[in-house]
Amino acid sequence: MSDWVRDGGRLCLDLVNTLRDRYRGGRELLVSPDLLAEWLREVGLGADGQPSEAHVASAVELREAIDRAVRARAEGAAIAGADVELINEAARGENREAVQLRVGRDGSVAAFRPEPRDPVRAALAAVAVDAIELLATEPFPRVAVCAFHRCGLRFLDTSPARNRQWCSMARCGNRAKARQHYARRKAGA
Ligand SMILES: [Zn+2]
Repeated sequence: MSDWVRDGGRLCLDLVNTLRDRYRGGRELLVSPDLLAEWLREVGLGADGQPSEAHVASAVELREAIDRAVRARAEGAAIAGADVELINEAARGENREAVQLRVGRDGSVAAFRPEPRDPVRAALAAVAVDAIELLATEPFPRVAVCAFHRCGLRFLDTSPARNRQWCSMARCGNRAKARQHYARRKAGA
């Protein structure tokens, strides 16, 4: 099992957080089709289809577009047009072929629901739709970056005072406090 974390508070931020340790240039977790399949299962989007290398590239591309777009919104800046297009394209997923009403020669009426031809793409579309819903939220909520010097995970801050500092107390909060404590002791000695 890989080192997945689900502290983003939003599906799309959990995807962003598959690049860990962003403060240190990043540690990529989506390095193979099998690991993308594992992540999709982890977030409940486990698809029947087996991801390909192309799906991994699409997921990484979508992830970085979401991260840039969310950071732009957080800073009150404009989202780059290319990122809007990329997210919209990903969100279309399998919806090109819509559900249709089919009326037979014998008068039978049925709903035609096309099978997703690419279930992995459909799963990534769900992540893109989540990003669209987050990005379109007004006023834009606080999406914070974990303050621990080695972490950099993104998370939706829903704390009452909107002052949450760490992606998780267990992972980063305690390490950061131990570090501060050590620094104070060193300074005092
Ligand atoms: Zn953290």
